[in-house]
Amino acid sequence: WSSSSSVRINDDWPGYSLELFNYPKHYSGDLECVYIPHGVIMDRTERLARNIMGDLGDHDIVVLCVLKAGYQFCADLVERIKALSRNSDHTLPMSVNFIRLKSYVNDQSTEDLHIVGAEDLSFLTGKNVLIVEAIVDTGKTMKTLLKHVEAFRPKMIKVAGLLVKRVPNSSGCLPDYVGFEIPNRFVVGYALDYNEYFRDLNHICVISESGKLKYKV
Ligand code: 5GP
Repeated sequence: WSSSSSVRINDDWPGYSLELFNYPKHYSGDLECVYIPHGVIMDRTERLARNIMGDLGDHDIVVLCVLKAGYQFCADLVERIKALSRNSDHTLPMSVNFIRLKSYVNDQSTEDLHIVGAEDLSFLTGKNVLIVEAIVDTGKTMKTLLKHVEAFRPKMIKVAGLLVKRVPNSSGCLPDYVGFEIPNRFVVGYALDYNEYFRDLNHICVISESGKLKYKV
C-alpha cells in the first residue's frame, strides 16, 4: 500500500484563528483553531475524484463508506465523481454501501475494534472496491478492515482516506488516495467527532483542552 502524493500539513502549522471563519456558536470555547477550512477540503476532494476517475474510470465500482466519520467525505467524493461522469466520455458506475466501525473512546484508540452491521460483505466478491475513510491514525482500523474485506475476494481494493496522521507507530498501511497528511493532533469536524460531538462542524478543527473536558465521557 503506497500512498500517492497528498497535501502535507507541517507540524508547526498553527491553523487559522477561529475569528476568521464562521462556525456554530455552540462550539465557541471548545476549539483551538480552524485546521483545514471546508473550502480547502472540497477543493482537494475534487482533485481526488479526478485521480480516482483516471485510475478506475470505466470500471464498475462498489464504494464502501466507513461510518460514521466517513459519511461526509464519502458523500462529497461520490458527488464529485458523479459530476465528472456527467461531464466526460468516461464514466464510473458506482454503488454505495456502508460499514460501521468503532474503536475510539474520548481521544484514545481502543484495542477492540467492532464492525457493526454489514458483516456479510459477500456482495463484494469479484468487485472493484473503493473503501472511503475519513482518517487513518495508527492504521489499525484500516488493516483490520482490509483483512475483513479481502476475505470476500474482491477483484480489486483501493482505499481513499481524507486524512492520514503522521504517527510514530503507524502500521505502514496507507490509503491509495490521501487528501491531507497531518500532524499527530486530535481533529474534529467534517463528520469527525469527539464522543459524537462536532460532526455538525464544517471545517476540520483542533479541539481545545476545555472542549475535551466538556465533552468527556
Ligand atoms: P486507527 O485505527 O488508524 O488508529 O484509528 C482510526 C480511527 O480512529 C478513525 O477511523 C477515527 O474514527 C478515529 N480517529 C483517529 N484519529 C482521530 C482524530 O484526530 N479525530 C477523530 N475525530 N477521530 C480520530
